[in-house]
Amino acid sequence: MTDINVDILIVGAGPAGLYAAYCAGFRGMRTAVIDSLPEAGGQITALYPEKRVYDVAGLPGVKGRELVAGLLEQCRTFEHTFLLGDQARTLQSGDQEGRFEVGTSAGRRIRCDAIVVTGGIGTFTPRPLPAAAGFTGAGISYFVPDPTQFTDLDVVIVGGGDSACDWALTLEPLARSVTLVHRREQFRAHEHTVALMRESSVDVRTCANVGRILGEGAVEAVEIVDISGNTIETIKAQGVIAALGFVANLGPLLTWGIETRDRRIVVDTHMSTSVHGIFAAGDITQYPGKVRLISVGFGEAATAVNNAAVLLDPTLDLFPGHSTDAV
Ligand SMILES: Cc1cc2nc3c(=O)[nH]c(=O)nc-3n(C[C@H](O)[C@H](O)[C@H](O)COP(=O)(O)OP(=O)(O)OC[C@H]3O[C@@H](n4cnc5c(N)ncnc54)[C@H](O)[C@@H]3O)c2cc1C
Repeated sequence: MTDINVDILIVGAGPAGLYAAYCAGFRGMRTAVIDSLPEAGGQITALYPEKRVYDVAGLPGVKGRELVAGLLEQCRTFEHTFLLGDQARTLQSGDQEGRFEVGTSAGRRIRCDAIVVTGGIGTFTPRPLPAAAGFTGAGISYFVPDPTQFTDLDVVIVGGGDSACDWALTLEPLARSVTLVHRREQFRAHEHTVALMRESSVDVRTCANVGRILGEGAVEAVEIVDISGNTIETIKAQGVIAALGFVANLGPLLTWGIETRDRRIVVDTHMSTSVHGIFAAGDITQYPGKVRLISVGFGEAATAVNNAAVLLDPTLDLFPGHSTDAV
């Protein structure tokens, strides 16, 4: 699937992008959604899947993971093309039919009539765990899309932020053992989470590093180096989760010739950018009074997609109709 032809391309499968995909489906547009991460959900999936979000209208206290699952289920009403683990890199505009062509890191060419950029704070790249080189896909994870994959395993989690501690607490009832290795004494995670973790059966090792990861083709054991005592202990592990954070980079999107301010994309009230046919929504947008919340991104996504629909077919009404009338 190297050449893809759609009406609209959505760049970024965070909450704004997923909702934009729903709106595009509702308008009957052939839609592709691309994200450089292997999982949909943007910051929610990468940084706080186990946290409860309290300020999404109508969903009091929904877990990040559940919110993303709901957004994906909404999208599945339509037959969208999802391109995960692929980054939108280059943009060429104005072929004979005035279409855009987006080139991707996986070598795809996506042709489309309109684009909605929902790239948030940019492409996330997990900070690598040097000891894990060579074990990716063989016991090393940078995400936990499905906690049950660690059922009855000995798991080592590396990191001291919210993700590391949240995953430790999530896996504790499922895994045979959970060991958390953090190089400092202090955690960056929420105090309450750290307290819960310390009360749980999670084996917390502070002032420690992962030395070598051992195994024939897959992770079998991990060396834990105690920084203060300079001792090394080898423990059994079949899974290692590197939760060392992510580096976010808007990189390629900044080369698309779209007006930006403070590394965000400037939009008007239609969520239209300075390039005709390219819209933006969510954390990436910039305008006076902008509030960076999931709920705001949803509204912007609906505005962006419906304005794109009218741009592609001026006979259409801007108002999409009520979903209650759609079935
Ligand atoms: C710890 C934490 C807690 C939070 N709690 C809340 C809360 O309680 N309530 C709330 O409303 N908000 C909260 N937020 C903020 C909220 O997560 C963001 O507002 C929201 O995720 C923005 O959604 P988005 O879709 O615009 O962008 P993102 O979620 O950032 O998603 C953007 C996606 O675009 C992808 N991408 C970027 N560039 C490219 C490219 N060139 N090609 C392909 N893919 C690309 C990225 O990989 C990413 O997946 C929190 C944020 C953090 C970090």
